[in-house]
Amino acid sequence: MKRQFARVAIALGSNLGSDVGNSRETVRKSLETLGNTEGIELIHASSLYQTTPVGPPQPNYVNACAVLAVELSPLALLDTLLAIEAQFGRVRRERWQARTLDLDLLLYQDLILDSPRLTIPHPRMQERGFVLVPLAEIAPDWQEPITGKSIAQLAKEVDTQGVIKLEL
Ligand code: ATP
Ligand code: CA
Ligand code: CA
Repeated sequence: MKRQFARVAIALGSNLGSDVGNSRETVRKSLETLGNTEGIELIHASSLYQTTPVGPPQPNYVNACAVLAVELSPLALLDTLLAIEAQFGRVRRERWQARTLDLDLLLYQDLILDSPRLTIPHPRMQERGFVLVPLAEIAPDWQEPITGKSIAQLAKEVDTQGVIKLEL
């Protein structure tokens, strides 16, 4: 049978080091891990950005986005992302706290889904400069399916203060 790939966008974030190193190393290694995962191909990875945290006081974040080709269903992909977070030492306590690795599913083709464990598009992506700036680098023309606006357009409309591209 012909293999079916879905185009997916994810966001990566870290503001605590893990076993593999600081937040930058953690994000880089997690991209490598994603690319080496059965059923996932890494198509594009954005630059890394340093960003000011929202929520409780905590260290600055390192954020990035990636475009993947996946052979997994949305829920199977969510489970894979959560398993990779755990592999990098993520301990889940309350929301929006400091973490070694956060992997959010942003877009899955043009799918709109609202289920107890998974909402696509990610419901808060539109208000987040730390998501839209890196995503606009690698997928500017992708249309967010609810508004019909391109990622480039959404990135223009969002507050991007505190989102700083890191040198390689
Ligand atoms: P936010 O979702 O605002 O970025 P967060 O990433 O800190 O907050 P988590 O604690 O990582 O939130 O995730 C809580 C739950 O959100 C996950 O266990 C998952 O079931 C659910 N969830 C719903 N939609 C998504 C999505 N699009 N991507 C990732 N997780 C999602
Ligand atoms: Ca998140
Ligand atoms: Ca998350």
